[in-house]
Formats: sequence, C-alpha cells, structure tokens
Amino acid sequence: MSSYNNQTLKIYNSLSGEKETFVPINEGSIGMYVCGPTVYSNVHLGNLRTFMSFDVIFRYFIHLGYKVRYVRNITDVGHIVDDVDEGEDKIAKKARLEQLEPMEVVQRYTVDFHEILKAFNFLPPSIEPTATGHIIEQIEIIKKIIDSGVGYEANGSVYFDVVKFNETNHYGKLSGRNIEDMLANTRDLDGQSDKRNPQDFALWKKAEPEHIMRWPSPWSDGFPGWHLECTAMSTKYLGNHFDIHGGGMDLKFPHHECEIAQNEACTGQSPVNYWMHANMLTLNGKKMAKSTGNNILPREILTGENTILSKAFPASVARFFMLQAHYRSILDFSDEAIVAAEKGYKRFMEAIDALKQIKTSASSTLDIAAWKQLCYDAMNDDFNTPILIAHLFEGVRYINLLKENKETISASDLETLTTTINNFVFDVLGLENQKATNSGNDKLEGAINMLIDMRNKARADKDFAMSDHIRDQLLALGIQLKDSKEGTSFSI
Ligand SMILES: [Zn+2]
Repeated sequence: MSSYNNQTLKIYNSLSGEKETFVPINEGSIGMYVCGPTVYSNVHLGNLRTFMSFDVIFRYFIHLGYKVRYVRNITDVGHIVDDVDEGEDKIAKKARLEQLEPMEVVQRYTVDFHEILKAFNFLPPSIEPTATGHIIEQIEIIKKIIDSGVGYEANGSVYFDVVKFNETNHYGKLSGRNIEDMLANTRDLDGQSDKRNPQDFALWKKAEPEHIMRWPSPWSDGFPGWHLECTAMSTKYLGNHFDIHGGGMDLKFPHHECEIAQNEACTGQSPVNYWMHANMLTLNGKKMAKSTGNNILPREILTGENTILSKAFPASVARFFMLQAHYRSILDFSDEAIVAAEKGYKRFMEAIDALKQIKTSASSTLDIAAWKQLCYDAMNDDFNTPILIAHLFEGVRYINLLKENKETISASDLETLTTTINNFVFDVLGLENQKATNSGNDKLEGAINMLIDMRNKARADKDFAMSDHIRDQLLALGIQLKDSKEGTSFSI
C-alpha cells in the first residue's frame, strides 16, 4: 500500500502553464469539481474521454489514500446554443423540436449518460448536482455580483461587465488573453443587444413569453446564464477556495474564464488552485461532427453498430485504448487503433490470469521494488497513463519470463508484483477482466459460432432463406451478427 505521504505528485496547471507540485488546501483531502454534460443529446465519445480522464484522476487520488469530494454537475438549463447569449437554450430547443417537456429531455439523456458511464466502469462522483436544483444559489450570487459593481441589469436581464471587472482584475488570465485584444477583434454591438460591451456575458436572461423554462427572480421571470451554475455548485459543495477544477479543453474560454471572474467579483479571491483541461478526441484524423457523419457514440463501440467499426469491442478495451494516450494529448480513434488496443488488452489479461501459476523461489532475479516505483512515478508525473501502461507491460514481460522459469521471484516480491498490477490495472485505470467474464460464456459463444458456420454454409449453398432465418432468429434473441471482410462477428 502506498500513500500520498510518500509520493510527490505533479499536476499541469492550465493557470500557470506549468507542472506544479500538488499540495491540497487541507492535508489529506481534496475538493475537485468537473463540468458535467449538458443533457440534451447522447454523450459523445469525446465527452466520454474527458470524463474518463477525470475518473482515473479521481481513482488515483483514492488509491493514494486521499479523502476526495468529487463534484460533477448536470447542466439541465442555461446552456445556450452556439454559446452566444442571444441564442436559444439547448434543452429548450431540443424539447421544442421533439415536442417534449424540457424535463423529459433532461431525464432521458441523464439516464443515458449514467448507463453509458456505468457500462464503461466509471466511479460515480461524490455529488452530482443539477443546475435547476440550484436556482436560488445562482440568484444569490447575481445579487453579490451586482453589489460588487460589475453586474448590471438591462431590460430584465443581468450581465457581467467584463471591461469594468478588468480594471481591477485580469479577465483572460486562464486562457492567456487580454481584454484589449478581445475588444479589438470584436465588432461593435449592433444596437440590438442590452449589453454594454460585446464581451459581457449573461448572468440572468429574461424569458420570452414562449420560453417554458423560467423561474421568478428580482429582475424578471427568466433563467440563469450557463457560466453561473458551475460557480454556484462548486462553491456550495467545495467552498470559495478549492483544489481542482477540470473540464474539456474547449471549456477554458469563455466558460472557465467567466467562472473565475464571477468568483473573484463575489468573494474577492480566485476560486481554484489547479485548473486541469483534457484534450479532445478525433475520429479517423478528423474532428467529430454529427453533420458530416464523422461521428461515433460510446454505445456503438459495445454493439459494433457503426460502419466505422469492423466489430464490437468490450468497454474495457475502449477504456484501455483511451488511456494509452495522455489526457492532455489529442487522441485519434480509428478501427485499426482499437483493434490493436484489443490485442494489447488481451495480452495484459492473460498475464494477470497467469500470475496465479507462478512459483516462488528463495530470492528474486528481478528488481520488483524499482519497477513498482516506476509505475507510481508515471502517475505522479501529471497522471501519465501511457507511461504507466508501458511499465505495466514490462510487468507482463516479467510474468512471462517467470512462467518460463527464465527468472526467479521471492514470495514477498511476487506479492508486490501481484498487488501493484491489480491496483493499477483494476483500481486506478478502472479496467475489468472482461475476457475472463466472457469465458464463463464459452458454451454460448461456441453455440453462436456454430450457428454462424451453419449460416455461412447456407450462404455458400445459396440457401438465403436459411441464412436470413438464422440471422433473424439470433437477432430476436438479442444477438446481432455483423459481416465484414474479416468474417462474421456477433454482439449480445
Ligand atoms: Zn462548468
């Protein structure tokens, strides 16, 4: 067992642009806030990767013995289409298009989000607050911002005066911008807006008569601006000053920049010690976008139901694939890449299964203690999971050499090797031995493969009625066949 007392952890802080030694505000405990999903559509693979990065960070803190309060919110109101304050709320828009009550949209996609995260073996956060559950807190913060002199009301809406704030604070310090450049690069307000400056952002928006999502406030019946909810929920559960705030790289500006401004206006202090941002995921070398069809949903990896994929993959293989890249690097998803990851994953799990068969000797020819520390060093260096996985593969090489009696190991070193591998593979990386789980279904797998053979034979004999019958009957049982160049695979 290792603990935070004997590990020096470095975290890349987006605020300073440097790796800094991590020192929590209160010894032994950590407050971490991560921006959660806007629940108006299915969570996409890029979002899943961001949340997975923070899941592993959360898991490593727990492994080191920290008491962690991990808050990840649900955005169920206030997130504006195209992130412009004049746009339409994403959830209200979806509800209008699908003729649903906004809370039906929220419920549907919140359930989907939880199902996907469970399938990919995420730990639940300590608190998962919703924006609509914290309207009163948001109104209180707006009052404080108005009192501080940088919030102003216009026609029932309330805005944050970025220019005035910047006279005493630095708006842009997280994203490395300054207000002069921002002002120079934006066109003038066209007279339609209630804002004093184009950079100002909404704290409260007056609802149009047809707008369903609305709450009473001192200024109008309306709804809060998106940036405000995270300030309200992070400080409510973690205090005005907390350790870590994370999210996707795309949230650094304006979302997180606005959060800092709101906090500083409200409390006079910067809210967060370490800002962390996870990089994006591309698909076949291109940005993912629903409109171009260059898009894949996490669920489709599990079922193989996407033309990009040659077959279905277990969730742990997808997890293993994603963690082979550092969270601050762009990761490209492709069928070849996940097929390669599956081979590595299987090698890994076979070695773990083989650990039980290893015989011990009086002494070791391998330096297990040094290897163990290398695993910790990798995670202590800004959660470097690809380096950790490389060291774990070195552990796999050890296991194979020991199995072939080419090296020896003492009983206590074998225990260290086993514990370290189990800790990192299952507890920290959050992988599951899904090969082992599936092997319990050997008989089922054998029977399905026999039916696939029979179907291939029927097709070869041009008995398409029979081949279709086999496929349809299997589908009725929830077993889907997928044909590709490599042959036929199935998913249950
Ligand atoms: Zn947020």
